[in-house]
Amino acid sequence: TDTATRGGGHGTGKPAYLNPKLPADRRVDDLLGRMTLAEKVGQMTQAERAAVTDNPAVIAEWNLGSLLSGGGSVPTPNTPEAWVEMINGFQRQALGTRLGIPIIYGVDAVHGHANVYGATVFPHNIGLGATRDPDLVRQIGRATAEEVKATGIPWNFAPCLCVARDERWGRTYESFGEDPKLVGQMASYIAGSQSAGVLATVKHYAGDGDTVYDQAAADNNATLPPANQAYVIDQGVTVTSRADFARTNLAPYWDAMRRYDVRSVMPSYSSVDWTEDGVGNPVKMHAHKELLTDVLKGAKRFQGFVISDWEGIHKIPDPAEPTNAGLTPYKVRVGVNAGIDLFMVPHSAKQFIDLLTAEVEAGRVSRARIDDAVRRILRAKFDLGLFERPYASADNVDEVGSREHRALARRAVAESQVLLKNSDRALPLRRDAKLYVAGRNADDIGNQAGGWTIQWQGVSGDVIPGTTILEGIREVAPRAEVTYSADASAPTDGADVGVVVVGETPYAEGFGDVGGPECTWCSTPQHEEKSLSLQPADKAVVDKVCGEIDTCVVLVVSGRPQVLTDQLGEMDALVASWLPGSEGAGVADVLFGRRPFTGKLSMSWPRSEAQVPINIGDRDYRPLFPYGYGLRTR
Ligand code: BGC
Repeated sequence: TDTATRGGGHGTGKPAYLNPKLPADRRVDDLLGRMTLAEKVGQMTQAERAAVTDNPAVIAEWNLGSLLSGGGSVPTPNTPEAWVEMINGFQRQALGTRLGIPIIYGVDAVHGHANVYGATVFPHNIGLGATRDPDLVRQIGRATAEEVKATGIPWNFAPCLCVARDERWGRTYESFGEDPKLVGQMASYIAGSQSAGVLATVKHYAGDGDTVYDQAAADNNATLPPANQAYVIDQGVTVTSRADFARTNLAPYWDAMRRYDVRSVMPSYSSVDWTEDGVGNPVKMHAHKELLTDVLKGAKRFQGFVISDWEGIHKIPDPAEPTNAGLTPYKVRVGVNAGIDLFMVPHSAKQFIDLLTAEVEAGRVSRARIDDAVRRILRAKFDLGLFERPYASADNVDEVGSREHRALARRAVAESQVLLKNSDRALPLRRDAKLYVAGRNADDIGNQAGGWTIQWQGVSGDVIPGTTILEGIREVAPRAEVTYSADASAPTDGADVGVVVVGETPYAEGFGDVGGPECTWCSTPQHEEKSLSLQPADKAVVDKVCGEIDTCVVLVVSGRPQVLTDQLGEMDALVASWLPGSEGAGVADVLFGRRPFTGKLSMSWPRSEAQVPINIGDRDYRPLFPYGYGLRTR
């Protein structure tokens, strides 16, 4: 019998898998050969930290291979040191198992390590797309990884290689833009991340940003459990030909694999429905054997592992139990056989383990498929050095929110600003101007950061350290006379320039402007998330400031294009600021000419909601501002 433990077996010395001098493949083979079915199935299972915090012994009991922090699932206090301690505590449990296989911990650091208080929060991808600067994105991938690593985490569920084709999509801001080529270029993030020792995951494979709401989708949703009916555009159906799908949605993945070392892929919640097969038969990406196994792992020779999305397999429709929103043997079997290797089953790990074990024992999932999955997961753990260095140290916590990283973020913010209108050279502003700053997004760092910040949905208000746009203005132009009035109720006389900062409040995931049931989890009222138009209160602030002050500059803080056609005439200058994150001073840098405006739209801006979706290459392409548009200043 094998009694191998960390530090060596008995008699003949260390087992091969613990020998760092051997090639990783040998070590994987050796370890796999020692594992029981229970140990293998455990490796394929990822639970949420909250599900094991009260009873960490289950990590060993269930042989868990992985843990994650979902958005906003953070230790108390939410400090880098507490993260390190928490993760080491979990690791201790894993290392106490018979074979001592370390867990791999994952997190969504999708715009910096923004779950952690004090981290550098970079612009969301939609803004980074506007920089057209893959090398900057590579550096951001690296800086983010340094912060992630400093908190003891070796794995990030980023970058999103989604191609946002419908601006109503609630995850548009997670996309680098509507052009697959641009998205593929920004996969440089992977190189940056992995150069700092943090495994990157490309997501959500594929078609997440290209779903439609039509009768076929509606019919399909009608057969799903009520919980799933809320997902119409987000987690919807991509109705497309194989050729179009490859051009629009798969291309960034192949570009990424050609250029970088892609080692982990997360399938999309959405489904695909091939038009050439006759619409009406959507297949969930989590169940898509053709795309996960035949294409990705087969034709494209992907050697890494596939990690399912949060309860992604729960959403595979089980024809026998259509109302069951939980797990069933069918969902588990279909997911594994489609090609998923590691399962994000945050609060149903034990149930998943039991179901998968039974499916294997019944012969409905082959042992070869299990071995293939475990092999891929173990390979990643060896490559990350987790067997040699399973514990994190708190020595590098100063990396979190460091001056260098904040300087990089500030530069990224400046490069991401897109100047859409600039009559009479309203911009850049004079640094001794008399400014009237208004609008609810002028002094709200939470709104500036957007979703996936401290909480999953993000949160308005003073929630992270950094500078708001208003604070940035005061810093960059200390001699300016600044009157600030969020709702523009203060008198405007005296001021020679109005700076109005309006736009969206935070949200994550959800769906776009398609009707359907209320979004029960949204932190903002559903009507707000659905609409691409400014809120009435924002419009009123624009009217007032632009009506009363000679020169008026409007900044839109938003995760996606907005419909502003009605008020454009009132504005002297208009800037798309996107979701800049913690370094609002980067906005001030371009406003006052410390840096030039160089950003270019990574998404078309529509004239009206009726024009949506609108993408470059469309027939009758007549947007308000086309893809690639952006004025320059010196
Ligand atoms: C999102 C993923 C994310 C996962 C883990 C899901 O809801 O779709 O993008 O990686 O949660 O937090």
